[in-house]
Amino acid sequence: MPMNKKVLISGASIAGPTLAYWLYRYGFDVTVVERADAVRSGGYPIDVRGTAIDVVERMGLLTQLQAAHIDTRKLTFVDADGAPIAVLSPEALSGGVSGRDIELPRGALTSLLYKQTQNGAIHYRFSDSIDALEDDGAGVGVCFKSGEHARFDIVVGADGLHSNTRALVFGPEEPFNRYLGRCFNLFSVSKPSSVSLSHEGIIYAEPGRAAGIYAVGDSDTLFAFLIFAADEAPFLSHPDIEEQRLRTSEIFAGSGWKVPRLVEAMQKADDLFFDTVSQIHMPRWSSGRVVLVGDAAYAPSFLSGQGTSLALVGAYVLAGELATHSNPAEAFAAYERIVRPFVEANQALASSGGSMLLPRSQEELDRRNQALAAAASSADNGDHAAKNRHVHNSLKLPNYDHVFKR
Ligand SMILES: Cc1cc2nc3c(=O)[nH]c(=O)nc-3n(C[C@H](O)[C@H](O)[C@H](O)COP(=O)(O)OP(=O)(O)OC[C@H]3O[C@@H](n4cnc5c(N)ncnc54)[C@H](O)[C@@H]3O)c2cc1C
Repeated sequence: MPMNKKVLISGASIAGPTLAYWLYRYGFDVTVVERADAVRSGGYPIDVRGTAIDVVERMGLLTQLQAAHIDTRKLTFVDADGAPIAVLSPEALSGGVSGRDIELPRGALTSLLYKQTQNGAIHYRFSDSIDALEDDGAGVGVCFKSGEHARFDIVVGADGLHSNTRALVFGPEEPFNRYLGRCFNLFSVSKPSSVSLSHEGIIYAEPGRAAGIYAVGDSDTLFAFLIFAADEAPFLSHPDIEEQRLRTSEIFAGSGWKVPRLVEAMQKADDLFFDTVSQIHMPRWSSGRVVLVGDAAYAPSFLSGQGTSLALVGAYVLAGELATHSNPAEAFAAYERIVRPFVEANQALASSGGSMLLPRSQEELDRRNQALAAAASSADNGDHAAKNRHVHNSLKLPNYDHVFKR
């Protein structure tokens, strides 16, 4: 058994179960606490690309992920009348590699990761959360919301952008939240029988406002989004959803294309997800015996398209470094040394993603439309995609196979 073997992970989405899987393989005793009553299914499509493909391959999950690939074939950018400005493959925009990179519903990935940790030895505590923790240097005393107490050698916050663990150890989110000047609404709508969209997305933008619909494979459900620019973040960690429905409706008043119908659907949606577009930047990802991973430590925002991949890669490296260092501080320093440059390069992709999806001025919109038209007529996907591809693959995973215990 490694030293510091008893680990608590807060969050059972992507980073949490990935970390649990690897820590178990290295002989750790792992507990995962998740606020929700189960691993959440469903959800918007996410991407697994570049170095992260190596992580899922090493977990024996590549074939199952490939089977869940939703195979989006085209993205059409339209004008106010619905006429196409440009039609592109998703790879032409993202720099993804067709045939290797995978896009799948978020819930399909979380379910597969969770299943991979169902070995009877990794203990999940659903409908619970860390209420308080105290790191005395030799271990961490944890008080759960359920009222139970337990002691762990290490606690890991894998609890997302608005991380509870980060708040308990590092304080309020505000100093770490880098707001990117945009807010988004995401919701599902059933596909009208008159609509024949499949394996594709349609995107419309005006200065400061953008909308889109996304057909995941042949599903009868479409994902819709409404994104708008706002200089001031309306909130950081605690959205008031009804206020945001109203605010979004006002902001999109008079908008073209199918936006009025989307606003109507947004007002009624029972799965509306509203948030600011934000990144997390922290000077350090650990303090004492507590460490953060995934969005909790370094959310890159969906504009980068790399949040899932960074969560997978960070969890893999953190587990490996904990297995190869008996001193947690040394393990955390090594984890950060290896992963931080990769994170920073991927976080930087959000700025080009932002101006592609939501230009803030007419000038920026005109420039974007020219760039889209050029990319659509270019055979080689252009410099932008090549640069992104380089960044997605810019970390070579260390190998920790020599420390396998099971
Ligand atoms: C609208 C949208 C679109 C996106 N699109 C993409 C995309 O196209 N490509 C891509 O790669 N990424 C995308 N992302 C980003 C991606 O979803 C995240 O980066 C990724 O899920 C991060 O994984 P994580 O495990 O670190 O955190 P999360 O997935 O946020 O999981 C955190 C987990 O912690 C749990 N939790 C929260 N609080 C507590 C608590 N107090 N106690 C216990 N558990 C708690 C949550 O319930 C959740 O299960 C998108 C994100 C959004 C919001």
